[in-house]
Amino acid sequence: AASTFEGPRKVLLAAPRGYCAGVDRAVVAVEKALETYGAPVYVRKEIVHNRHVVETLQEKGVIFVEEADQVPEGALVVFSAHGVSPAVKQMADDRNLQTIDATCPLVTKVHREAVRFARDDFEILLIGHEGHEEVEGTYGEAPDNTTIVNGPWEVDDLQVRNPDQLIWLSQTTLSVDETMETVQKLRERFPKLQDPPSDDICYATSNRQAAIKKVAPNSDLVIVVGSENSSNSVRLKEVAKEYGAARAERVDYANQVDEAWFQDAATIGVTSGASVPEVLVDDVLRLLAEYGYGEVEEIVTAEEDIVFSLPKEIRKALTQAG
Ligand code: SF4
Repeated sequence: AASTFEGPRKVLLAAPRGYCAGVDRAVVAVEKALETYGAPVYVRKEIVHNRHVVETLQEKGVIFVEEADQVPEGALVVFSAHGVSPAVKQMADDRNLQTIDATCPLVTKVHREAVRFARDDFEILLIGHEGHEEVEGTYGEAPDNTTIVNGPWEVDDLQVRNPDQLIWLSQTTLSVDETMETVQKLRERFPKLQDPPSDDICYATSNRQAAIKKVAPNSDLVIVVGSENSSNSVRLKEVAKEYGAARAERVDYANQVDEAWFQDAATIGVTSGASVPEVLVDDVLRLLAEYGYGEVEEIVTAEEDIVFSLPKEIRKALTQAG
């Protein structure tokens, strides 16, 4: 294989990329549940939004279901990293399910904010993608007090009860730039709008976007490794385009990379979403090397050392197992 580009070729590899602390914790929680309780382990929704991770766990005996009522009475179910609404927890209780909650602590933080501000009679403008599991979960904490705002284009037509009692919260995996634009438009309409106590867009999302913003302007092509339903992966592709990559493509696997993309590409940027195991990036780098893009320069914009402890139910089971 050879690239159609004749000059010097190289790869700019964005860092940070790939697994965040919340995804790592959720995947390890399912693996420990399999070891401790044996197959089958039920998981409500995809544990993290990555095809490879889901298929690998399926092979080990995980059964993914859409809703808790598809789990046999009394069985073990893991809630995914994206979080669940109180109604889902209730459904699991009603079926006497044993639960392990792998909700990322940074999603739980947003849930707590929603509960607290609803209790204080605020109306919550939840910036996020309607239909995304995380948004459904957060919304479900305070459905009577929450309005979902998909993006800046929805601000003009928004109806609120009381413009003096408004706060915005957000999904953790949005585009930082677009969210700021939404907030700015919201504030123009509702000057008394309050900010969340701390950022809801998580460190992993913003770090990965910051890294690709450095890589994209110097790249003719950016390849984002990540699944179609992974919000933060899809954002990385958009951000790459906004920041000057001539072309940006998302793939689940190296075999989806199309050599036609290499035409006129001297420099290829590579990154991956927060739910993507590094082996998938390695596969892409190996493929690129075959096409003459063997020189890899890592562009590091932040160091990450955040680790979350495992869900308490798993910690307890592991202690009991000795
Ligand atoms: Fe948690 Fe952020 Fe990772 Fe989502 S992307 S699991 S919020 S750390």
